[in-house]
Amino acid sequence: MAFNLPDLPYDFGALEPHIDARTMEIHHDKHHAVYVNNLNAAIEKHPDLGDWSLEKLLTDINSVPEDIRGAVRNHGGGHANHSLFWEIMSPNGGGEPSGDLADAINSTFGGFGDLQEKLSSAAVGQFGSGWGWLTVDGSGSLGIESSANQDNPLMHARTPILGVDVWEHAYYLKYQNVRPDYVKNWWNTINWDAVTSRYQAAKG
Ligand code: MN
Repeated sequence: MAFNLPDLPYDFGALEPHIDARTMEIHHDKHHAVYVNNLNAAIEKHPDLGDWSLEKLLTDINSVPEDIRGAVRNHGGGHANHSLFWEIMSPNGGGEPSGDLADAINSTFGGFGDLQEKLSSAAVGQFGSGWGWLTVDGSGSLGIESSANQDNPLMHARTPILGVDVWEHAYYLKYQNVRPDYVKNWWNTINWDAVTSRYQAAKG
């Protein structure tokens, strides 16, 4: 079974002024498409993996045959990361979460402002290309982390529920080298309903 590039759930310009249309177009149609194509090319070499889901490939990355493990890590991670990224943003995004997720954020980090500060700091501080994440571990606890390249938290048993892409391709056209401004404005795009759904599913 081949993996497919998901449609962007809104127009390229829908997240302006926070993320510009040209960046979204290149990011989705070129960058994400390459991850999907290269993941499929790797998987084709091992038909025995044909029924593995993307989540299983990442969670069990050390069981993936060694000759394609690096490609699955980079391109499978890239496919998963970007699929999440499009979904956790919305033209009607921003604001703060409510309910269980808000309670968990308050008890774990102190408050929503503390979450923003800590996740922004992790994302801005990631050296080179990578991601900043809000994750849920096996006991249902929230955590903040960053990852290099296209590594996904599933590779070390944590489920990402919110992530920010800090590769330069995600922001350079509009923000050039000023990654902190991009991350600051990215908060205005968050679809908290989508993040809450992921939180509920992850904590079980
Ligand atoms: Mn990207």
